[in-house]
Amino acid sequence: TIPVLTIDGPSGSGKGTISRAVADRLGWHYLDSGAIYRAVGLAAAWESIDLSDPDAVAACAARTEIRFESDDAGEPRVIVNGKDATHQLRMETAGAAASAIAAHPPVRTALLDLQKRFRRAPGLVADGRDMGTVIFPDAGYKVFLTASAEERAKRRYKQLKDKGVSVNLDSLLHEIAARDERDAGRAVAPLKPALDAVLLDSTGMPITEVIERVLAVLPD
Ligand code: C5P
Repeated sequence: TIPVLTIDGPSGSGKGTISRAVADRLGWHYLDSGAIYRAVGLAAAWESIDLSDPDAVAACAARTEIRFESDDAGEPRVIVNGKDATHQLRMETAGAAASAIAAHPPVRTALLDLQKRFRRAPGLVADGRDMGTVIFPDAGYKVFLTASAEERAKRRYKQLKDKGVSVNLDSLLHEIAARDERDAGRAVAPLKPALDAVLLDSTGMPITEVIERVLAVLPD
């Protein structure tokens, strides 16, 4: 069977950066499941669909076309229904919309196969909230990545600033806390570590060290 390493955790825990780097080092595929939920939230907004309507959003999820590509510089781009939505998807408004639609069971069901199809040889690094618990419960390697709320907000703040997006650190802290609370409190696929996940708190840890610790979960 094709090996899978799942990396779950709250927003700003460094999952994206770490998962990409680890996938690169291993030469494995990478699944950014958060981008899928963000893309569906965005597509639903484009179609003026009520985000609180589970069946309408699930139907939208089923017909939304999401493509992961890289540009000439090797930077990842996400194409939603033919439009490059990379920049828009990074905004916290897209994160909030993703979190709202991700709480609907039929939406999660509509996105199951799409996510499972990312499991291709030679291996997959899967980044999200329920990779180790719901999508790939049989994964051989599971990590749950955390960091203090302050540090996670600061990382997101810096990420957005580097991309030229101006944000207020205080309101970002509140938005992220609200999103984490909703993700952890929802009835379906709540954010929580798989029983067999290795817990890794990256507060104050340099990225290079986090990458090494994640790689150490795999056999040599
Ligand atoms: O990881 P990211 O911040 O891009 O995720 C955006 C939102 O999508 C999360 O706050 C969560 O509500 C939802 N999500 C999810 N399950 C996943 C990945 C993301 O519910 N596997």
